[in-house]
Amino acid sequence: EKITDKIAALPKDANYFSLEFFPPKTQQGFSNLQARLERMSRGLRPLFVTVTWGAGGSTATKSLELAEICQRQLGLTTCLHLTCTNMSRSLVDDALQQAKALGIRNILALRGDPPRSEEYRERDDDGVKGEGVSNEEFTWAVDLVRYIRKQYGDHFCIGVAAYPEGHSDQSHPETQDSSHDLPYLVEKTKAGADFIMTQLFFDVKAYEEYEAMLRNHQSGAFDDIAIIPGLMPIQSYQILRRTTKLSHAKLPPDILARLDAVKGDDEAVKRVGVEIISEMVEDIKMTTTRTPRGFHFYTLNLEKAVAHVIERCQLIPPSSPTINGSDDDTIAVEET
Ligand code: FAD
Repeated sequence: EKITDKIAALPKDANYFSLEFFPPKTQQGFSNLQARLERMSRGLRPLFVTVTWGAGGSTATKSLELAEICQRQLGLTTCLHLTCTNMSRSLVDDALQQAKALGIRNILALRGDPPRSEEYRERDDDGVKGEGVSNEEFTWAVDLVRYIRKQYGDHFCIGVAAYPEGHSDQSHPETQDSSHDLPYLVEKTKAGADFIMTQLFFDVKAYEEYEAMLRNHQSGAFDDIAIIPGLMPIQSYQILRRTTKLSHAKLPPDILARLDAVKGDDEAVKRVGVEIISEMVEDIKMTTTRTPRGFHFYTLNLEKAVAHVIERCQLIPPSSPTINGSDDDTIAVEET
């Protein structure tokens, strides 16, 4: 099912959430994750899940394997991330064809990072590294959005990435502020993107200003599109410091102070982390939106912190989906 169709079927004031997973490196890792996914999908009922893609296709086989587990075996609406830089056209074609064959209707279309970036790259030397091709056909994410639309028409619902606190990479090591990316985000939307998913952040005020900037943009490109803020549950002090450095997410002083106060105590960091992320969710819930309010969680394949946040913020949908606009007759028939 397409993510945008599922969002459109929700009541206007509903909240929903999605979960991101990455493919484990080993078969043991896969079976552990599969068990966890089963529990999480039954207990938490995400609107959809996403599966990351290693830069340059370095995890292609494993990403598709995990996507198959999610979509086919667990029946979850699945969104496959797909990068295009350092990917040959045939690798892109293979990925899209396999995704289609698995019944996947959602792709997060990304540029990906040049080879040496560590964030989405497998860290050890087993497994296939990317092909390392440079391909002029795919320079920016928008090229992939256009390519998917050209080859597959409306078959896929396409998401694109956005950066509330700006973006930087090897070609622009200085973080560009978020308005620098705006023309390119407009371009991605005009090329056919159906939803926007953001980089992780901890500064809710910066996020809210960013979202307002998009909604008020004179192009009109962001009037009705779903904008899904990305949040990363806090698993440990070290992971937090590393990921905020990689993503250039700022840690507001009050959040840093709360975590600094307990940083020697892993359990306390997790507990305070759940409080912090839950408060962020509640703050964002209070802001007005034109579409139902979604939250995307970078789970790092871990269960507890994200489950606590989702429970605490009452994001778990009712078990029998409320059918928007269903009339009383239908319900009466079902009850008899
Ligand atoms: P683009 O939209 O192409 O933008 C990249 C940069 O180029 C921006 O700074 C933009 O301002 C600039 N730019 C864009 N178009 C032009 C143009 N025409 N001319 C000049 N400059 C331009 N990476 C992975 O490898 N695997 C993943 O699974 C993955 N998942 C992600 C999920 C989310 C939600 C997010 C936010 C990021 C993810 N990434 C992933 C990281 C992403 O690949 C990197 O941040 C990458 O550097 C940028 O990708 P993009 O799709 O935003 O690129």
